Formats: sequence, structure tokens, C-alpha cells
Amino acid sequence: MSNEIRKDYILDRWVIIASERAKRPTDYSGKPHERAETKTCPFCPGNEKMTPPAFLLYLPSDGGIKRAKDSEGRRVRNWVVRCIPNLYPALTPRKPVALVEDELHRRRDGVGAHGVIIESPNHDEHPNNARPEQIELVVQTYSDLLKDLSRWEYVSIFRNHRKEAGASLSHAHSQIIATPKVPRRISDELAASRRWLKRKDGCPYCEIIQKERDSTRFIFENRSFIAFAPWASIYPFEFWLLPKKHQHTLLQLRGKEKKEFSRALRTCFGSLATILNDPPYSFGFHIAPNHGQHEYFHWHLEVYPKLSIQAGFENSTDMFINVTPPEVAAQSLKELLPHI
Ligand SMILES: [Zn+2]
Ligand SMILES: [Zn+2]
Ligand SMILES: [Zn+2]
Repeated sequence: MSNEIRKDYILDRWVIIASERAKRPTDYSGKPHERAETKTCPFCPGNEKMTPPAFLLYLPSDGGIKRAKDSEGRRVRNWVVRCIPNLYPALTPRKPVALVEDELHRRRDGVGAHGVIIESPNHDEHPNNARPEQIELVVQTYSDLLKDLSRWEYVSIFRNHRKEAGASLSHAHSQIIATPKVPRRISDELAASRRWLKRKDGCPYCEIIQKERDSTRFIFENRSFIAFAPWASIYPFEFWLLPKKHQHTLLQLRGKEKKEFSRALRTCFGSLATILNDPPYSFGFHIAPNHGQHEYFHWHLEVYPKLSIQAGFENSTDMFINVTPPEVAAQSLKELLPHI
């Protein structure tokens, strides 16, 4: 393979796939996961007082799960998933304040919501090694929170794993930020999907699924989900997970599909952790905004391993260099899929 410049499926975003200096998994000298902190973990059971009161808890109940909450003075124990407000919120829920601005200095008040989802009482129960039932509870939590935050324009659910990818605590957790404005990447994907719909009368992601299923970038599929390394991957070992059925939001997942999504997560992250020695990564869901008609959009999860540093070229041009072709990444990920 020689070097080439690839365009994202639908976005105007270009990536230099640098095959001539291609890196294989062994070239990323991953060190085994070191515990980032030695201090008491505020997310571990028994330390609930160290965090603000939980606004949502899952408690075991008669073989099922029931929802509960902490109060200011009392912290509930025995939880299996715990959601708390972020101590250092990027956005806060309150009445917006009018701010002075001019044409060159536009601004909005920082209203919104920022929560942390503690995914398990077990410190190290991450998607790559979690019990599938526990991942199902986390997926259920995502869905409950999406519903609860539907008054905001957009809700972003994301996860940072390990310090190098931005996680300040190593306990298994994801985050959720509700914003009063649709973020740029989402609005770009919405606009490109609408253009595709107009031109081809269909959904680009449904077509991408058909094409990538038979490509060298294919990684995994079960009845309801598919994973592949995208054509113009920005990051080495980037992969995407999509529902095979056209759905615009996570809220459309039925019980069985949630199960299959959880298993797909466990399988793909299991393989990623095996190949690259539990690398730092981030992931984020791309879903339709809460307001307006966006049924044409196809929700998905994008996973970005952090193995390279974006620097001068990327930051100053918004063009990217990826030294691991997605075909090479997919091949390695596919070979080491665990059987769940
Ligand atoms: Zn912990
Ligand atoms: Zn679709
Ligand atoms: Zn996307």
C-alpha cells in the first residue's frame, strides 16, 4: 500500500493514511495499566460521602433493579450503578444570564448539565473485562439519563479511559454533558446525512454498513450491531459501532438489542485491550438532537484510541495523519476478538 489521502464518508474531513510508515500493534509500546492514583477512590463503595449526592442509583431489588437517589444527608449503599453531578462541571443547570456580546465576541451563558456515571462498584470493571450484565446496566443508565435530559438541545455521552485520555480517576466511569446548542461535529453529520437523503433517498450509514461488512475494515457483527474501522480513520485503531437497523437515538433500543449492544462493546473493547495492553482511549455517542425531526440520522458510537499525539499539522490544518491504515487495525482487532 502506498500513502493516500482519504475523505471521511460524508464529512469534509481528510486524513493522510501513511501506509509507508505504517505502525503495527507491537510498535505501540503499551505499558501495563498503572493505577493513576494511590489515594482513596471517591467512586469506590464506602466512600460515597466524598462525592455529591447521587441523582440516580440502581439498586438490586427482587432479582431486578430499582431506581433510587441519595439525599443531602444520606448516601445509599449497595448500589450497582451510581450517577453523580460532576464536581467541576463544564456546564451547570440554572437560568441563563443575558451576556453582552458583539459580532466578533459572541457568547452564551454556560448552562447545561454535567454528570458522572460510576459504571460499577468494582473499581476495575471496564467495558473490556466487565460482566456483560453489568454493561447492560450501564447501557440502561445511558438511556435513562438521555430521557431525563431531553429538555436540553443535545446530550453527549462519552468515556475517557486512563489518564493519557483525560480520565482524572481510574475507577470505571463515563460522563454525560447536556448542552444548550448542537455541537459542531453532530451538526456536520446531520447536514451531510440530510444532503445524502436528498440526493440518494436513503441513509449514508445504512449504506456504509452494507459496504464495510464485506470490506477489509470489518471487525465484528452480531444480530443487531456491527463494528468496523472507518475508511478515513483519524486515529490508529479507531473503530465505530453501529446498530444495523436504522435508529436515530439510543432510546429506540429494545431489550434484546441492549443485550447485543453490551456484548458488542465487551467483545470489541476486549480485543482492543488485548492487542494494545489496555490502551488509553475515548469514546463518544453520536445521536440525534432532542428537538426537531431527525429520524433520518443513524446513531453510532465512535471509539478513539489514544496512541498518537495530534500536534502542529493537525491543530493548524484540521487534516490528520494516521500511521496505522484502518485495514491493518481491523485485521488485528478481528483476530483477537474474545468469545463472550
Ligand atoms: Zn474506585
Ligand atoms: Zn441508517
Ligand atoms: Zn459520528
